[in-house]
Amino acid sequence: MGAVVPNPYIDDSHRQLAETARGFARDQIVPYLPDWERAGLIPRDLSRQAAELGLLGLGYPPEVGGSGGDFFHVMTLIEEILAAGGSIGVMSGVLGHGIVSPLIMAAGTDEQIERWVRPVLAGEQLCALAITEPGAGSDVAGIATRAVRDGDHYVVDGEKTFISNGVRADFVLTAVATGDGGGHHGLSLLVIEKGTPGFEVSGSLDKMGWLCSDTAMLSFDGCRVPVDNRIGDENAGFRPAMRNFEGERLIMATQCYATAQRCVDLSRRYLQEREAFGAPLASQQVLRHKLAEMARRTDVAREYTRRVADRYRAGEDGLASQVAMAKNTAVEALDFVVDAAVQIHGGYGYIREFEVERHYRDARVMGIGGGTVEIMNEIIAKQLFAGT
Ligand SMILES: Cc1cc2nc3c(=O)[nH]c(=O)nc-3n(C[C@H](O)[C@H](O)[C@H](O)COP(=O)(O)OP(=O)(O)OC[C@H]3O[C@@H](n4cnc5c(N)ncnc54)[C@H](O)[C@@H]3O)c2cc1C
Repeated sequence: MGAVVPNPYIDDSHRQLAETARGFARDQIVPYLPDWERAGLIPRDLSRQAAELGLLGLGYPPEVGGSGGDFFHVMTLIEEILAAGGSIGVMSGVLGHGIVSPLIMAAGTDEQIERWVRPVLAGEQLCALAITEPGAGSDVAGIATRAVRDGDHYVVDGEKTFISNGVRADFVLTAVATGDGGGHHGLSLLVIEKGTPGFEVSGSLDKMGWLCSDTAMLSFDGCRVPVDNRIGDENAGFRPAMRNFEGERLIMATQCYATAQRCVDLSRRYLQEREAFGAPLASQQVLRHKLAEMARRTDVAREYTRRVADRYRAGEDGLASQVAMAKNTAVEALDFVVDAAVQIHGGYGYIREFEVERHYRDARVMGIGGGTVEIMNEIIAKQLFAGT
């Protein structure tokens, strides 16, 4: 199956990586994925294997243990893992540092980068980002987990939920309220390490999809965290967290169009192989046109996302609205495509053994996590009305 779509934004280094990434997914992920989904966990070894191939370090400079490269190397990795039959869920596990390490790189000191980025890129430590709470998701400024200064420590009390990799993580980059009134100007980021007294994984969520990716509930009860663990200035965590969302949303948009492409490929093959009424299903015009529509939406999402990602790679500021458009466009494409792919596979589309079933389940959260469809539209609307 040919999922390779010409990409004017990449060079030979990306194409070389594509081969490595595809081999990694084919040999180290795809055969084991059903077992990991049943177990609800990805083995830690997978991170080490990915690190050995330089896959965790993509986009990070060699000085901090990275493999170099740019944002399109990360996108290429995602595209190839999905083209080979991987899943968004497995990526949330093995590439989960993609929403943590950039924040530490952007706002942390050299010492903090050495302590919390290098071991992650080497696959020796796992990390998670904890922003969402039982009472605050979209409303990031409304978080209630408080950190009160006591000498050279903060005392942290509160709860977090929906934290990807939170069960396995060695440390959690945690958004806490430090200002008197909390809100945009009262948010700080603390690295809270597993084993710190008062910090517990209070539960693991049973989900619709992303079954191999653990999703934790965390609690902090009088948890003393050294002030040295604060990333960036006190009360200055909101802006870097928001900026970090741009990379996360483009990664999610990439996961969406790449999953959609995989579903187009699987559906095309199924239409060619499955016979009904004495002929391959591919001879039915209504199904051919359904596939055409799936391909059209996928291509629009891919082209738009790549265009915005190219501007992001160039360091352009003020892209929040375009990033939001890319995410919503790709989510909408994926929602349509996974539903159509299951329909094309008939009853088999509902059976676990058939890959489209997993993509259907994994897709649903893409319009919720990393900022919902509605919040993306609010970002777009704000820009439209700015200055009026
Ligand atoms: C599998 C999974 C993994 C996740 N991983 C992480 C993680 O690693 N770290 C982390 O911090 N979080 C994580 N999340 C949490 C995710 O980011 C939140 O679920 C998301 O931000 C939405 O927040 P909420 O669930 O509290 O919904 P709410 O904010 O309560 O929203 C509920 C509904 O109301 C709508 N709504 C809310 N406010 C507005 C508004 N102003 N205008 C219009 N509509 C509005 C929303 O769009 C949504 O439809 C994860 C979630 C899931 C399901």
